[in-house]
Amino acid sequence: MKNNLQNNKSLEKKIDWQIIKKEMREKFGNDIYESWIKKIELVDEFHNYILFSVSTRFIRDWIVSRYLDHILQIIKEYKKDLVRIEFIIKNNNDSENKASNTANKKLNEINNDNVSFIKDSYLQYNRIDPNKNFENFITGESNKLAFEASRKVSNDIAHYNPLYLYGGVGLGKTHLLNAIGLELKEKNKVMFISAERFMYQFVKSIKSNEMVKFKEYFRNTDILLIDDIQFMNGKEAMQEEFFHTFNALLDKNSQIIISSDRPPNKLSRIQERIKSRFSGGLVVDIQNPDYELRYKIIKSKTEELKLSYSNHVNISEEIQKFLSTEIKTSIRELVGALNRIVSFTRIYNKVPSLPEVKVILKDLLNLTENKVDIDRIQTIVCKYYKISKNEMLSPRRSRYLVRPRQTAIYLAKMLTSKSLPEIGRLFSNRDHTTVIHSVKTIERLRREDNELNINIDSLKNKILYNQDNEV
Ligand code: ADP
Ligand code: MG
Repeated sequence: MKNNLQNNKSLEKKIDWQIIKKEMREKFGNDIYESWIKKIELVDEFHNYILFSVSTRFIRDWIVSRYLDHILQIIKEYKKDLVRIEFIIKNNNDSENKASNTANKKLNEINNDNVSFIKDSYLQYNRIDPNKNFENFITGESNKLAFEASRKVSNDIAHYNPLYLYGGVGLGKTHLLNAIGLELKEKNKVMFISAERFMYQFVKSIKSNEMVKFKEYFRNTDILLIDDIQFMNGKEAMQEEFFHTFNALLDKNSQIIISSDRPPNKLSRIQERIKSRFSGGLVVDIQNPDYELRYKIIKSKTEELKLSYSNHVNISEEIQKFLSTEIKTSIRELVGALNRIVSFTRIYNKVPSLPEVKVILKDLLNLTENKVDIDRIQTIVCKYYKISKNEMLSPRRSRYLVRPRQTAIYLAKMLTSKSLPEIGRLFSNRDHTTVIHSVKTIERLRREDNELNINIDSLKNKILYNQDNEV
């Protein structure tokens, strides 16, 4: 209990959006700031993600496709647990969005919608997106099974229970969960929540003595959709509650659907008995899309865009093929790339040529192709600080070695998905606490020392975008 209360304290530490915006103005420059960044409003902040709003889909797509990484990186300095940023589209003329009465209105709205709620929760977030449905989910070899299982669950509740979908980032897991919710919400009480939100609500309910409500709330649902279960971690009490909720729902034949980036047995920090429950129903994976599926998606999205911009957007066959060939690992990136091209078309009033497309998508193309590994980070950092790799990896603690070493460790943490112990191992078997110390030190220095901050940005660019090769 004591532990949970302490955790709550850190939840309450909020970022200062005005200060961060000021920093973004400096980092992005006035033009980009005035045209795009300024339009972002902070809606709410959770323990490791942030909810923003902008007024149109177009602005969102533009910001997400070009600036999101950088924005994330800037905010991370103020909020180190941040892993994700989400946007909602909020039409400012819409009186519903005015500060007063919003909460009540939303409550009613959602209630009528037959989607369950907790009184003080952020309902926009819990809302099911009508644009992610089965009709516009395009299938191929890699996602056919997941699609069929999702349909099956929507027609025949509790046949496969739970349904566990897993696959890499941007492959359509949330889309499918959303589509299931959409299909079932007319006749059932549907609860669609990310594992992060589940944890957040749990901690909050303990704090406000509302555990009974929390339990009722989850146990009353007919359909429980939990997104990104891999983010659920630790906390015995919470896992206990989750386990009981889970069993109670299975007992009363409520359908449970779970998404994750990995199979049940690879989940770290989750109790064995919960993992074994996850494996007890149907487990289906979504693989990376093959060329055919990628091309099918690009074709379909191009048609869609063409319609929505009344034929002003004409992306050539050559470009469509180029995108389908080059962007391989994420459908989100694939669609994001297309959106970027459309944005270009609208701003410059012409469809870009293939060389122009390569420039517009430079980071995406490089990112997927030249995977960042720690060896590359070490090489580039050593070169930058003019030390040898042996020196970097040695135990010596001379000042001129310590800082580059910490920098390389920090960049390894930021730019790769390696765990702390793995990073430690690749730096001559250093302990993971050394890794944490290095990351913290550089994070602090980045705030205090502008020159170092710039150096690190420049190193990051070299590592990610090969900027060494540029004129
Ligand atoms: P994940 O949850 O697996 O990270 P999402 O469901 O958020 O991925 O998908 C990322 C984006 O790609 C979304 O905009 C989604 O609508 C789109 N998308 C993914 N798969 C498909 C598909 N098969 N057909 C159409 N759109 C898709
Ligand atoms: Mg998702």
